Amino acid sequence: MDIAVIGSNMVDLITYTNQLPKAGETLEAPDFAIGCGGKGANQAVAAAKMGGSVMMVSKVGDDLFAPNTVVNLQQQGVDTRFVTTAPGTSSGVAPIFVDDESQNRILIIKGANQQLKPADIDAAADALKSCQLIILQLEIPLETVYYAIDFARQHDIKVILNPAPAVADLNIDYACKCDFFMPNETELEILTGMPVTTDEEVKLAGQSLLKRGLKNLIITLGGRGSLWMSGDSVHQVAPTAVKAVDTSGAGDAFIGCFAHELVKSGDIPAAMAQASAYAACSVTGRGTQRSYPDAETFQRFLN
Ligand code: ATP
Repeated sequence: MDIAVIGSNMVDLITYTNQLPKAGETLEAPDFAIGCGGKGANQAVAAAKMGGSVMMVSKVGDDLFAPNTVVNLQQQGVDTRFVTTAPGTSSGVAPIFVDDESQNRILIIKGANQQLKPADIDAAADALKSCQLIILQLEIPLETVYYAIDFARQHDIKVILNPAPAVADLNIDYACKCDFFMPNETELEILTGMPVTTDEEVKLAGQSLLKRGLKNLIITLGGRGSLWMSGDSVHQVAPTAVKAVDTSGAGDAFIGCFAHELVKSGDIPAAMAQASAYAACSVTGRGTQRSYPDAETFQRFLN
């Protein structure tokens, strides 16, 4: 394996409706869909679809959703030997309400993801040691994230930390032990308490984090592109112009593709350029994982 994602999986329960019920009221909604999501799983699937050799360390619940999650990961080419069941627990689920204007209202129940513990990293240690890169997000307990970072440092494995969803009490010392710290602009704002409305403000907020000892900071800026900051250098990547249909999961598409390209070439600007185009391609389709192109479809998008 080249890449290990130690992180979450969720089942998206998507109701399409313009009206939410009040307390005590029952309403009918026109449409419903189930999707596979969770930041960890999304990133693993993006990297695998691009041709990466990817394993996941993750927890599913003791319920009907679990087999579907595992089969989905396998069908996308992700190694699931270390996706295990948390007895007596529900899977992570995300009831999502989408209205006609594509506005999302999302609830997240982390469920089994909260049961992913340092012992699960120990159980996967031999397989993890063969990986070149570990990707982490914050939908699992922080103690597990910190343990994984120390494990990676001990075994000389590169680490990407995507601080999502934002956690105000993230220990920045651990972020500094990672090779890449990859927030979006909202997460950057929460972590620094600084405004991020303009590119200049984003750079100032980024510099305030770099001063605390971060090695490489890559900020995704939605339709404004992305930015890599390291030491005094700033490298900006313009977005690929597309007609966006649904931007959910774009950040995960970016990170999964970036990880795959980084392992392949070690060239950070080239990996960002590919990741930017890959994420742009993903926003042209509906859904999260289902909007991620495989390598062949992505090649056609580029041509
Ligand atoms: P999510 O949490 O839904 O996964 P995010 O907020 O973490 O997303 P964004 O910063 O919105 O991630 O987007 C990630 C990357 O996707 C951007 O840096 C950009 O390269 C690409 N992208 C997003 N939206 C667009 C768009 N409208 N047009 C072109 N590229 C886009």
